[in-house]
Amino acid sequence: MTRKQKKLLIRIAVATALIPAIFVLPVEGAAGALLFALPYLIVGGTVLRDACRNIAHGQMFDEQFLMSVATLGAFALGDYLEAVAVMVFYQVGELFQSLAVSRSRRSIAELMDIRPDTARVIRDGAETVVSPEQVRPGETVVVYPGEKVPLDGVILSGATALDTAALTGESIPTEVSAGDTAVSGAINLSGTVHIRVSGTYEQSTVAKILYMVENAAEKKSKSENFITRFSRVYTPCVVIGALMLAVLPPLFVGRWSDWLNRALIFLVVSCPCALVISVPLSFFGGIGGASRKGILIKGSEYIETLGKVQTVVFDKTGTLTHGTFTVTAVHPEQVSKAYLLDIAAAAEQQSSHPIARSIISAHGGHIESGRIGSVHEHSGMGVEAVIDGRTVFVGNERLMSLADTEARPCHRHGTVIHIAERGRYLGHIVVSDTVKPDSANAVASLKSLGVKRTVMLTGDRRDIAERVAGELGIDTVMAQLMPDGKVEAVEHLMSEFRPLAFVGDGINDAPVLTRADVGIAMGAMGSDAAIEAADIVLMDDKPARLTDAIRLSRRTMRIVHQNIVFAIAVKLGVLLLSACGLVGMWIAIFADVGVMVLAVLNAMRAMKA
Ligand code: ADP
Ligand code: MG
Repeated sequence: MTRKQKKLLIRIAVATALIPAIFVLPVEGAAGALLFALPYLIVGGTVLRDACRNIAHGQMFDEQFLMSVATLGAFALGDYLEAVAVMVFYQVGELFQSLAVSRSRRSIAELMDIRPDTARVIRDGAETVVSPEQVRPGETVVVYPGEKVPLDGVILSGATALDTAALTGESIPTEVSAGDTAVSGAINLSGTVHIRVSGTYEQSTVAKILYMVENAAEKKSKSENFITRFSRVYTPCVVIGALMLAVLPPLFVGRWSDWLNRALIFLVVSCPCALVISVPLSFFGGIGGASRKGILIKGSEYIETLGKVQTVVFDKTGTLTHGTFTVTAVHPEQVSKAYLLDIAAAAEQQSSHPIARSIISAHGGHIESGRIGSVHEHSGMGVEAVIDGRTVFVGNERLMSLADTEARPCHRHGTVIHIAERGRYLGHIVVSDTVKPDSANAVASLKSLGVKRTVMLTGDRRDIAERVAGELGIDTVMAQLMPDGKVEAVEHLMSEFRPLAFVGDGINDAPVLTRADVGIAMGAMGSDAAIEAADIVLMDDKPARLTDAIRLSRRTMRIVHQNIVFAIAVKLGVLLLSACGLVGMWIAIFADVGVMVLAVLNAMRAMKA
């Protein structure tokens, strides 16, 4: 509990304890009113103060205002006990709600227990413990078993298993050794490793994830905006309704105080706090629960859109097919296979494309950085690089025309990467593109979730694309697309079934990620562009996570809708009953706080993923 919450609790307790004491005292009339004013002000003083303050700021109709008018009115009618009770219940509700909010914030922070507190950096040959922000790129840090990797980097020595469950939702630890990358926030399970830090703490995966989760609440969904607009119209309407109830009927039937009492009850019931608090809390819980599964959602509007998604568009390489391939050099013309692989790996050294990574890992050896001159990556085609002083081209057929040469056909299955110097074809490498084990399953479960259309976009050749799509049960294939062609394709698809989600690995598809109704980046650990461009980030590279994300969004939306319908239905019912004089102030406030408590408890369910 915070100090504010404790104070509120004490005020509620003191006011409640005073009530029986007042009954014992033998006072009546105006003296009784004065005595009841004491607990009333103790428990409700801040409400009156806030109501005045808000009126001064031009915000007339809020819940503090409703409560103040209702209770002061009750006092005026001589219903002192009711007035105090309403304030007590109202404040109990406020306390409960503030506890719920701080609980869910705290548990998100706990769930995301990935922030490293310290880093052991090696300076002048000795180990120094500093905060991760103080480590500079290029420095070496040592991580012992049981500790968190403080910053992103490459393992220099040692081998261990890293637990990335808190980052990716993947519970199987990954084995890493020298040369592998280590992601910040992962827990070192078994061995001591030395890591060369590759970027500052602000650039690290862990800092980016935390930033995203902490800022997720800012992008409001339609439902949240609806609630804000709703209460802006609703409260004045209720006040006018109450006024009419107090004035109009007694003009005909008399009994002024009776109708005034009903009007006050009407005011108490109409307080929209259940909605105002429970809807954002449900979204907040949904985002929190998702992040625990390695699904980072940048705002509640994306939960709403993802829940309704009709078209899912996948990028092929790195998304549906694996990032790691087997590489074979075929048909070396005038050069050896080893040489072919060597210059290809050298040219791809700086590319993060899955094809590049697999060529580099097939090569396996070390490449002197001095051999690499200027490098230019032609997005969707390949790379052009100066290696050992000569310009080489490594990429698809289209790239070969930039090299003023022609690609030789190859009849092997797989993606063919051609290698050429300017005007001279050297040979090619076949990268066999293996489908991820759970891709087919993911596509099938999208269908069973009611997604109308699944599409695969790729810059790769048509025959390969069609083979992969056939294997996976994808409805529509669009192949041989350049990155801007992918944007056009998505725009075209958006004219059919919307909303549309695009799922990519974030490498050269940032424009499409931005253009789609929801852009989802997959396997984004360490990829900055993807984390920035996407609306939703799936931390590991399993397509099945997408269906988890859709299910989770729908569940959150169900909870939101339940709360909206439930709260409005109960309110309308009690409003009607109170207008007819069938419920008293007690029932009214009980209904009001009760609905709020139930709605908040329901909202907390969204958190349990
Ligand atoms: P996808 O749409 O399947 O993800 P991309 O648009 O990223 O594919 O790339 C399309 C094609 O361009 C690849 O199939 C490959 O032939 C070629 N290509 C792209 N980048 C590279 C690279 N770094 N090295 C070699 N070839 C590449
Ligand atoms: Mg791609």
